[in-house]
Amino acid sequence: MASKALHQNAVKDDLAKLPALYEDCFHAISRRRSPAIFMTRVRTSRNPDPFNDEAIEVRRHIDDVLRSWAALVAERVGLPVPGPDRGAGIGGLTAFLVAHLDWLMRSAAATEFAEEVAALRGRAERLVNGTAPAHHLGECVEASCDGRLTARTAPGRAVASQIGCDRGHSWPPREWLLLSARIERREAS
Ligand SMILES: [Zn+2]
Repeated sequence: MASKALHQNAVKDDLAKLPALYEDCFHAISRRRSPAIFMTRVRTSRNPDPFNDEAIEVRRHIDDVLRSWAALVAERVGLPVPGPDRGAGIGGLTAFLVAHLDWLMRSAAATEFAEEVAALRGRAERLVNGTAPAHHLGECVEASCDGRLTARTAPGRAVASQIGCDRGHSWPPREWLLLSARIERREAS
């Protein structure tokens, strides 16, 4: 019983962190609007901005997962799902799930719910803390290089700080505009 209570507290803690993490992901997007990135975005139709994409995807994922669990609870207890607006009600969704956590954690889906909420928190924290997984951008653009291009993030940074290939080519942020044009040419050829 004690371990079950601890488990439930852990889920409650994960849920409580999600509204702030959801906001922090938004700020991670905003911080990307450095001049180099802005120019890249204007210049190219294909957006080589993997961390922006990741932040948007994490937010969408948080919203989707919480909403689907809230819908399940709402159906069982005969209440409406709070916050009908997408992206506008993460606090309302988590409060609703916390209010019905006893029921959720006694249900057959308890383990799945706990794992999904923990995964949401982990993914959002990795993004916000700048340790998001590397993002692959396809093959290296250097002639006769068969490496794979990857965007990486330095510890403590919320945005990508280096793009390089696994054979040793690398491009600092000031060269991303040029690099994005080369990626685009490669994809067009
Ligand atoms: Zn290379």
